[in-house]
Amino acid sequence: MLWPHAAIVYRVEDSVGCPESPQCQLLMKAMDEYHRKSCIRFKEWTGEDDYVSVFFNPDSGSCWSPVGMVGDKQRLSLGQRCWYFGIIVHELGHAVGFWHEMNRPDRDEHIVIDWQNIIRGFTPAFRKMRADQVNLLDEKFDYKSVMMYDEYAFSKDGKSPTIQSRSGEVIGPLWMKNSLSESDIRRIHKLYQCKDNNQMVSFPYNVHCTFKDHVCGFKNGEFTIWKWKTEEKVNYVISTLDNSGGTPGKFISPNLYPVSKNDKLRGPSGCIRFWSILEGEGTMSLSLNMETLDDVTQLTFNEGSTQTVWSSQQSTKNWNHQNVTVDITKPFRLTFQSQFYSDASKGALMAVAEIEILYNGPCDSIRRNIPQKPVVKPIHQLQFVEDLHNITAVPVDTDY
Ligand SMILES: [Zn+2]
Repeated sequence: MLWPHAAIVYRVEDSVGCPESPQCQLLMKAMDEYHRKSCIRFKEWTGEDDYVSVFFNPDSGSCWSPVGMVGDKQRLSLGQRCWYFGIIVHELGHAVGFWHEMNRPDRDEHIVIDWQNIIRGFTPAFRKMRADQVNLLDEKFDYKSVMMYDEYAFSKDGKSPTIQSRSGEVIGPLWMKNSLSESDIRRIHKLYQCKDNNQMVSFPYNVHCTFKDHVCGFKNGEFTIWKWKTEEKVNYVISTLDNSGGTPGKFISPNLYPVSKNDKLRGPSGCIRFWSILEGEGTMSLSLNMETLDDVTQLTFNEGSTQTVWSSQQSTKNWNHQNVTVDITKPFRLTFQSQFYSDASKGALMAVAEIEILYNGPCDSIRRNIPQKPVVKPIHQLQFVEDLHNITAVPVDTDY
């Protein structure tokens, strides 16, 4: 079975020695490989029924994991010989849902198995799977896959090869692999039907909403008058006033989850950055609110937890870059709220662009480049066409 929403819930057993041990750090780094390159998200267990329980077995050398989500608690073993980046990425690959590359039904076209060189009792690991047992996802055989064993896997003397490539290409040991292969990444996205890395932002990973290709799941709040909208071919969302007074316009992010206590790569502070502009006469305000939950298993955010983490009432006439340091240890949701008061001029507007949610510490410690200032100014000259019942805003100037 696949993990719902490409989200793999994990729990690290005490034996791994989180968060300080080098093993724990390596495990987090391996998970981060999936976070950076795919839509898979690993989320620390907070009471969910189905999860992977990772343990370190120092008395054994063996590394293993069930394939995909089995249901209930499923263990993933990392023995003393498993503590290499490539091997952990491989075991996590099983948990994601992948079998070994050398067991593919078409493997004989690409590799030769030397059965006599295999340690006794380990030949079943080299069996070929039937076409109905594995989904090849339209991907060719890949020597570079993290799910591919190397030439000397289970070799009886460590020197006689058990697998040889027909192409002459060197496969190389798993423990030396330092990344998912291109095909591995495509397979994950095909298996989980993800469009891109940032499709799922419900788990702690840096996100950047460009508004060109995706908005990181941000959507209009219910029951709001000022709808945030993306102008065609430009990279911001905008809330404009084409009537007077009223309910604030809300632009809401999906639920975002807390950083794990084990995860030294992220938190406890995070940084929300974005470009903003407020334009027009009269009173208006733009604010960024954060709602939090104490427990991730709760389903709804309550308004009572809402905190305004940033706000502006200043009409700026130009884009300004904002940096907001926030506590990210609890699950949270973000809301941009625009409010026009009755004295605000028609055509007043607020826009935000290039929203980044960064999990790597407070804003002043972030080394990553600031996204470019939006090149196009929001349309602020609006011509009003009156008819009997309502007023419609028509943009007249698009680019200057
Ligand atoms: Zn394996």
